[in-house]
Amino acid sequence: MWLIKGKGLRRYREWLAAWVLLVAHSSGLAHDATVNYLANEAVLLQLDNRKVLFDPFFHNDFGHYQKVPEKFRQAIFLGEPPYNDIDIIFISHAHEDHFSAVDVARYLAQYPQTQLVAPQQAVTQLQAMADYAKIESQLHPVALLKDQAPQSLSVADLAISAVRIPHAGWPARAEVENIVFYVRNDNISALHFGDADPQMAHFNVHKNYFKQLAVNLALPPYWFLIQAQGVAILQQVIKPQKTIGIHVPIAVPDALILSGYDYFSISGQQQPIPHKH
Ligand SMILES: [Zn+2]
Ligand SMILES: [Zn+2]
Repeated sequence: MWLIKGKGLRRYREWLAAWVLLVAHSSGLAHDATVNYLANEAVLLQLDNRKVLFDPFFHNDFGHYQKVPEKFRQAIFLGEPPYNDIDIIFISHAHEDHFSAVDVARYLAQYPQTQLVAPQQAVTQLQAMADYAKIESQLHPVALLKDQAPQSLSVADLAISAVRIPHAGWPARAEVENIVFYVRNDNISALHFGDADPQMAHFNVHKNYFKQLAVNLALPPYWFLIQAQGVAILQQVIKPQKTIGIHVPIAVPDALILSGYDYFSISGQQQPIPHKH
């Protein structure tokens, strides 16, 4: 029989404890890449040790879309897990179904460690808020013109790039600074489209940029998934590992159900983000 005694036993216990810690840590990593749906285009991304929110605060549903349920809204403001320790809030564009300057200013004033990455049009609205001086240092405005080369930035140790893609309905609403944001933490990445227009021409301008992006999770508005050019943009240009449609109306369109794509339509839904370990 094989016995471990004295010093040998202590070493064995230390080795075992270290091994258990290592396994717990790596399985923790594996479970820390998730996307939680709030409503419309509001999502929480947990990218390993970083948390970011997209378009979390808004008050207009235009009669078709979902608002963030009050219990989720409160949990965000109270910083209840998983909505605690938010590193960055991203705003795709300053429309009322994506952005409330009052709420964003209130949140940033309450959580001074949280950064905001947003188009200049949203930042301009924040400049009119009473708390502006208090939150100014947390703001990272993105000022981009249509067809302008993408902009890279690093905020909260996350690699971010931004490109302006026209708002759906183009050439109407051409003045809207709609930003497609890419965010990456080491080997986990996501692409949020805002209300991008699903025309290949807009994306072809930035073909080389999109070609070099490794996208684990694409979050396009649902209209990409039910239009031929939107599907082509995803399949030929973006080539994400996984796609989940957002901005889904309360009455889910039949075409979306038939598309075969995943989509979020119920607040609180969560999915893993596939990635290499
Ligand atoms: Zn919009
Ligand atoms: Zn919208």
